[in-house]
Amino acid sequence: MKPVHPGHPAPADAVQRKAVVPVICYPVETLPRPDLAVLQAARAGWVKTGETLVPARDAATFRVPAGHFFRIVSVGGPQVGDLNLWNAADLSERFYSGKTRALHGTHLSTGDRMWSAFPHLRPLATITDDTLDWYGFDAFGGAVHDVIGTRCDPYTHNLLSHGGQYHHCCHSNLTRAVAAATGLPLHQAEGHVHDVLNVFMCTGFTRDAGQYFMKASPVRPGDFIEFFAEVDLLGALSACPGGDCSDEHSSDAAACHPLLVEVYAPLSPPQGWASPGRNGYDRTHGV
Ligand SMILES: [Zn+2]
Repeated sequence: MKPVHPGHPAPADAVQRKAVVPVICYPVETLPRPDLAVLQAARAGWVKTGETLVPARDAATFRVPAGHFFRIVSVGGPQVGDLNLWNAADLSERFYSGKTRALHGTHLSTGDRMWSAFPHLRPLATITDDTLDWYGFDAFGGAVHDVIGTRCDPYTHNLLSHGGQYHHCCHSNLTRAVAAATGLPLHQAEGHVHDVLNVFMCTGFTRDAGQYFMKASPVRPGDFIEFFAEVDLLGALSACPGGDCSDEHSSDAAACHPLLVEVYAPLSPPQGWASPGRNGYDRTHGV
């Protein structure tokens, strides 16, 4: 955090320097855009092919074929979820939270895409609906579905609690779920767990100190966020031990609820849609 009492005096032109108008790092006008209308039209007559109930304070995995849709649905009560996505055929291609944030901003909604890590950098999934899009940003600067938090984890908890051992943080939940789905040993599975999309979580940064904050999620049973799978996906979702994240996580104190993942197959693929190829950079890196 920035010091309350800086160790260095402001220069004579400090006011002018601070008044420089910012520019957007990544203007997305030239980014390949999804044809949302076409994707959404493909939902007509779709067939539900499966569902996975993610137990409270635990995680589960699910698979979605390219060209199909999946929804994460609030059931039972306000609950946030931590989502990981991988290319089902190659777990090294996984969701890249940081670059997604740089491209689409701190919180995602309809039309935004979940981009994969280098050297792939292509959309793994496109968000096609979000019943919480009305929330926008609140007076605190909070919004839902962030790509700024990483996931609650037992290592940070251990540091902050001076030695605490808690095993149902999202990181551990996801690790167990990935190990079960892949057959990998626990510590190898852990290496595949990555920074998440915080589904339904309401977060922001405080205006004074820039500290990461959370507040009670506005999600209610029946709310959902919907994705279109651009490639064959393996997904893992943790129902965070923080529940609606109104108070604390990394403990069993909060009221927690399950989350439902539903998978839908369209009658036919969206018109003109093709699974995106890997990134076009030639990877010679100037050599
Ligand atoms: Zn969590």
